[in-house]
Amino acid sequence: MNYQQCYDRSIADPAAFWADQAQEVAWYRKPTQILTHNPDGTDQWFADGQLNSCYLALDRQIELGRGEQAALVYDSPVTGVQQSFTYHQLRDEVARLAGLLQALGVRKGDGVIIYMPMVPQAAMAMLACARIGAVHSVVFGGFAANELALRIDDARPALLLTASCGLEFDRVIPYKPLVDRALALAKHRPARVLVWQRPQCEAELLPDRDLDWRAALAHAQPVEPVAVAAGDPLYIMYTSGTTGKPKGIVRENGGNAVALGFAMRHIYGMQPGDVWWGISDVGWVVGHSLIVYGPLMNGCTSVFYEGKPIRTPDAGVYWRIVEQYRVNALFCAPTAMRAIRKEDPEGHLLRRYDLSSLRQLFLAGEKLDSSTHQWLEAMTGKPVHDHWWQTETGWPVTAPCVGLPGSGARAGSSNRAVPGYAVRVLDEEGRVLGPGEQGSIVIALPLPPGCSQTLWGDHSRYLEAYLNTWPGYYHTGDGGYLDDEGFVYIMGRTDDVINVSGHRLSTGEMEDLVAQHPAVAECAVIGIQDPIKGQVPLALVVLKDGCEVTEQALQAELVARVREQIGALACFNKVQEVKRLPKTRSGKILRAVLRKLANGEACSAPSTIDDATILVEIEAVLEAHRG
Ligand code: AMP
Repeated sequence: MNYQQCYDRSIADPAAFWADQAQEVAWYRKPTQILTHNPDGTDQWFADGQLNSCYLALDRQIELGRGEQAALVYDSPVTGVQQSFTYHQLRDEVARLAGLLQALGVRKGDGVIIYMPMVPQAAMAMLACARIGAVHSVVFGGFAANELALRIDDARPALLLTASCGLEFDRVIPYKPLVDRALALAKHRPARVLVWQRPQCEAELLPDRDLDWRAALAHAQPVEPVAVAAGDPLYIMYTSGTTGKPKGIVRENGGNAVALGFAMRHIYGMQPGDVWWGISDVGWVVGHSLIVYGPLMNGCTSVFYEGKPIRTPDAGVYWRIVEQYRVNALFCAPTAMRAIRKEDPEGHLLRRYDLSSLRQLFLAGEKLDSSTHQWLEAMTGKPVHDHWWQTETGWPVTAPCVGLPGSGARAGSSNRAVPGYAVRVLDEEGRVLGPGEQGSIVIALPLPPGCSQTLWGDHSRYLEAYLNTWPGYYHTGDGGYLDDEGFVYIMGRTDDVINVSGHRLSTGEMEDLVAQHPAVAECAVIGIQDPIKGQVPLALVVLKDGCEVTEQALQAELVARVREQIGALACFNKVQEVKRLPKTRSGKILRAVLRKLANGEACSAPSTIDDATILVEIEAVLEAHRG
């Protein structure tokens, strides 16, 4: 089947299309109910199917003869460790860890928080939860204690798994004090904290609560995978919404397995035995779909990297890894490639390595700018593809499907809709727009398998955030347009979410923190363009009358406050005092206008001279801050 036939069939008869794809999964009980529509607009895929995601990722691969193939290769330039786990070894480790979790009282359906750096034990922890039907929620190690506490209170975990430290270049970041602080802030208390001790910094353990991972594992018995329903949650992944409270995106076992099988084969063109490298962190959705579940469920070798694109030790490290492990395809965020380009613009380091195994590179997380695209293609001599997705969807919405003939790829676009996704562009009244017309990008329901159909413990927020704006459509929060051949162009968020180095952050959350400062009368945080990070936050601050604080002191205090409450990943270090902010007649700050100005987009002409003056002032400020 070529791309067009496949796509047309997926839209004309989604149930029949996905029933065929579901045949690729080794279910414990094959589903007969493929697609069930719920009255509230959500859908249920494979309702009566039963499976186990850990079984599919490990035991099943061993049954298929891949026991001695490398499942995970851990490469950590920050510690100097390189370690390979075969499917057999990984299954045995995971089965014992799953036994330990059970012995510690974790039951099917319980939440488990994993707050860990990129060590293989993080992947093992995810798979061990899946094995016993527990619901993991990995929290990115860069988040501060307060953010971890929010997630602990929302996920209400039975257990928390952590490591003694993470490593950033040559800096050791102790994790345990952060966990202790988070648990002091959180109302919910997990019964136990299991700590993976790393030699770079051993953590002190609290006698009644903390357990040494290695010591506890020594007594654990391996357990078999349990059958879970297709609709049972595999994991929760928190992502920034437009408020301070993160959204707990829920991924179901059944849809995830079917969708990732389709994605690995048809989008990424990966076959069992191929080597795949998802360059990300287990703390993000990419880490779930493209480091752990996607590659392993499809019999690939997954490269598991603990390091940076540069300075660990240099901008040639990605290419060293491609050569060393004979990587066939990789996923990466544009920001990483921009960092490499800055250090090695002529590709001197790149040319030291043999990239002949590499078939193509996939980039996502933010728009792939044409200059980086061209540079990367010229340097590697390989096809470079932009593709677009979200934590909510869990797998690409638009992408070149390299495994389907005729899908085509176009530079400058995030490419065409993947089979299963009916991508449309709507105007503000919900009318479908034609080619070239810019508006809100939506997906006509039903969403394909794998996409989140609820938020953890807050279904009404899911409906409100995604389905209620335009009945019959899923609201992506992104704006853009389609061309006359269906290629999609993403222009950026239409809400108060910004994308810093591919990390999604809520400007509303930062505004709350800035506004709490005693000198601040009002403020707006917006994302402005940055040559490496894509976007960085800028706080526009109006001071209270008579305030004595200097701009420098205010900046230092606000930066410290955001770092303490959200984490260093926010890259919050730009604060600008302004005399006033543009507002509606009713006094609301015109965030949409600020966003457009920040993106360099045209705004409708302001109605008064006063409004126009404010916008000119703000534009000058933005210009001064742009990288
Ligand atoms: P996250 O859920 O953190 O993966 O962030 C998803 C958001 O990142 C999307 O809604 C987009 O705003 C942005 N994004 C992801 N991939 C792309 C891309 N290829 N081009 C433009 N924006 C992207």
